[in-house]
Parts: sequence; structure tokens; C-alpha cells
Amino acid sequence: MSPSYGAEDDPARDARVLPTAAIRAAALAGGFDLVGITPAVTPAGFSHLVDWIAQGYHGTMEYIPRRLDAYRDPGRVLPGARTVLALALNYHASVGSGDPRPPQNAVAASGAAQIARYALPASDYHTVIRRRLRNLVERCNEVVPAARARGVVDTAPVLERDFAQAAGLGWFGKNTLLIHKRLGSWLFLAAVLLDVELQYDPPHTSSHCGTCTRCLDACPTQAFPAPHVLDARRCISYLTIESRELPPEELRAGMQDWLFGCDVCQEVCPWNRKAPTTTEADFQPTFDLSGVDPRLFLTLSPEQFAERFGKTPLARPGWWGLRRNALVVLGNRGTQADIPLLHPLTADPTLQPLADWAIGAIQQRNHTAEASG
Ligand code: SF4
Ligand code: SF4
Repeated sequence: MSPSYGAEDDPARDARVLPTAAIRAAALAGGFDLVGITPAVTPAGFSHLVDWIAQGYHGTMEYIPRRLDAYRDPGRVLPGARTVLALALNYHASVGSGDPRPPQNAVAASGAAQIARYALPASDYHTVIRRRLRNLVERCNEVVPAARARGVVDTAPVLERDFAQAAGLGWFGKNTLLIHKRLGSWLFLAAVLLDVELQYDPPHTSSHCGTCTRCLDACPTQAFPAPHVLDARRCISYLTIESRELPPEELRAGMQDWLFGCDVCQEVCPWNRKAPTTTEADFQPTFDLSGVDPRLFLTLSPEQFAERFGKTPLARPGWWGLRRNALVVLGNRGTQADIPLLHPLTADPTLQPLADWAIGAIQQRNHTAEASG
């Protein structure tokens, strides 16, 4: 028996058309801002991923090469996968008194640290998006009862950005991010894999970066060896979130006041200048930028950290990771008054070289100021 698509009154109609329209509508009604539909084949960017790994640009993210077969074949993620629904959500919310973000030196003067926009809401976006994906998968099963479907966000080995481009949602900027002409690049990407065919959208084949190189020029740690290529080992997002190591000394000054992640290559992008803000409660910031004090993370116990930040994106680097990041920020922005707080960390063998560096950097700044003043 063939699956029922609710089109019995018009059996001649292409069996893919009605379910495609119903699933697309369900995605948009279910809290996704963009949806595109594309075949579940080896993504066009797979060979770039292989080259990128060969260069070592993935750093210590060994889970990427380990899952290369799955990145190549979506059937390893959902057996029999035929279709990918590429999904995007706008997380561009106003960040309170600092929207647009205050200039770098205004942030520095206030002694505050910066947190990437996506991490400012109270809930981890994975939790929010997984809930929406579960609902969408249920709707897919109502529309096409015979179909198997699986929702993914970040953690499964799916090149969501490549499928988004293939499904027509946007192009890859020179900063390697997907850019949509109206929404810009403040986007969470997700996908639903299905083992049935639907009607497919044309890919987005053009690029709209032109001669612009703002993102490449503005990156504080020179993390782009070439346009469209990111050396994660130099990227502040990697250094403050993914890495479990101390950042290399030559990159610490460039990390400036970024406590968690970095938005510089998005903030300078002209396609984000008019990006609309979302009013969704799930994506409203809970931190005012002027209120994130890096010193807080040096005073919390692991239990206090877990209680305050355990359900936020800041839990990913964890208590130790945030202490490490706070040391970098204070090394770059702290004053003599911070040294008593930093001294005890020189007794922690996992942080001692960084604590020594931070104290030395503060003292150096102080001497320079005294000499010039
Ligand atoms: S996130 Fe920051 S450090 Fe990473 S590439 Fe963009 S500008 Fe550079
Ligand atoms: S800043 Fe310029 S080059 Fe970089 S992604 Fe945006 S438009 Fe493209």
C-alpha cells in the first residue's frame, strides 16, 4: 500500500508536492525562520572538510575526523536518508544597553568581558531547538506516516551549513558563515533528515561578498589563512569554548576581552547591518554586556558555577574553562587591583602559566602607564 499524503482526491498530482508544502509550512509554523529542502547526498563541501582536516585546522576537535564517513554519507546518520530539510533560526536579539555593541574601548573601560551573542539567552539554544525539532519530526510523521525522520542540531555529523546552501538558504561568506540576504548571519542552523523524497529547492549558487574583506581584516587573532578558510586553532571561539588547553601566548593579547566566543567577524559584516532582531522570548539576552565581570568566574566554586550557569551555553567550557578565559581577559584588561585575586591561581598547576602571564601583563601595563604618565 502506498503512503497516504492526504491527496486522495487528486491522485494524479505529484505525490511529492503536497507533503513538501505541508512540511515546509510545519517548519515555519514550528518556530523556524527559514526552511529549504535538498537531497541527502554527499555535501559539496565535503572535500573542503577533508582538506581542512589535513591542514590541521580543526585543532583538538578530533571528533570531526573520527566521524568523516558520516559527514560524507547522511545515510550514516539516518539509514536510507533521501532528503534534508535545512532549517535556520534568527537569534539576533537586542543586547540591552550595548546594542549595537559598545566600541571596544568603552567595554574595556567598564572592565566588562564580552560573550558571543548566541550565548546571551538563559537557555542553551540546543535545548530550545531540539524541542522544536521533535515537534517538526512529529508533524513530518503525520504528513508522511511511512517516513522515518531525525532532527539534528550541531552534535550529529551533518554539514548543516552545506545543506543550507544547497537548499537555497544563503551563501558562505568569506568568514565561512552562512549569510541570508534578509536575515544576515545571526542564524542557528539545524536539519531534519527524512528517508522519503520531496520536492527540492534550487541551491544558492551566487556569492554576495564582492570585494569586501572586512571580516578577514577585523579578526583579532588573524584566524583566516584565506577567504572562506578558518584556522580554528587561532579562532577565539575555539580557544574559549572548544579547546581544553591554555591558549598559545602569541594569541592571548588578540583575545582581548572575549570571555566566551567572539562575534567580530559577524559584527563587521555589512549584511548584518540591517539584520532584523528577533522578539522571541527564547533568544532574549539575560546578560547586559556591561554587567559581565570576568572576576566573577574566579570566585565561584564549581558547585556555584553549576548552579548559575549549568543550563546555559557557558557550561560547555565549564568551570575550569571559564576561569581560564577570565584569566586571559584580566591579563588584557585587568589592573593592579586584580593581582590579589590572580595570585592564588599561580598555585593551580593547570592554570599557573596563564596566571603568571596575566599578572605579568598587568604589571607591564602599569609600568608603561607610570613611565608615560
Ligand atoms: S569568531 Fe572572532 S576570532 Fe574567530 S574568526 Fe571570527 S573574528 Fe576571528
Ligand atoms: S564581512 Fe564582507 S567579506 Fe566578510 S562575510 Fe561579510 S560581506 Fe563577506
